[in-house]
Amino acid sequence: MNEPFADYVLGRSCEGCTMCCKLLRIEALDKPRSQWCKHCDIGTGCKIYQERPTECRDFDCGFLTQANIGDHWKPAKSRMVITLATEPNRLTVFVDPDRPDVWRKDPYFSDIKNWARTAAKNRGRVVITQGTDVFVVTPDGETRLGPVDDDQLIISRRKRGSSGAGVEHITVNRNDPVMAAMRLLKDRDAAKNASPDELAEARRQVDAWLAQHDK
Ligand code: SF4
Ligand code: SF4
Repeated sequence: MNEPFADYVLGRSCEGCTMCCKLLRIEALDKPRSQWCKHCDIGTGCKIYQERPTECRDFDCGFLTQANIGDHWKPAKSRMVITLATEPNRLTVFVDPDRPDVWRKDPYFSDIKNWARTAAKNRGRVVITQGTDVFVVTPDGETRLGPVDDDQLIISRRKRGSSGAGVEHITVNRNDPVMAAMRLLKDRDAAKNASPDELAEARRQVDAWLAQHDK
């Protein structure tokens, strides 16, 4: 939570809201997701505002910065906090576990489905995190992944199964060596600078990892 900032949507601020102090993990404080920070004056503010960690200083939720996110998403009212990431292209909705399934109700669910349609066109992803439970929402449905750690990434791939073609979502640790191979194959500039042997080796590593996953 922060003082109003010029890049915020006009009229929006953290006033009356401290939801990110509950729903997000704060590594510097060893605070897990979905538990109130011990420094939070709930609904009022931060009791250590001047000394709060950099993670807290740097954080602005999607409601504050994105004009296309409606007023009904104010976290204090919706009990959900939206974060946006460009790498990977991901919108995450953190849901208060004390209000389970609030995201499934309108107007929220209609917004989430619209975002999922936009994300699908831009190789992005809409993720719902409710306590330790994580869901990926796509235009045609949702996949429940169960618990996903903060140091895990979600990889999506097209897959053909007995019931036809679909998208499968898999979790992988950020520091898994296969991630370097995936990044090389995904990053056009890096791929242009790589030799044919390096690209072939990266493909071999990714294929081997997926084959292992399929077992
Ligand atoms: S959830 Fe958003 S509006 Fe609420 S305190 Fe955090 S940054 Fe401010
Ligand atoms: S240190 Fe302050 S701003 Fe950071 S999570 Fe705790 S209460 Fe919120």
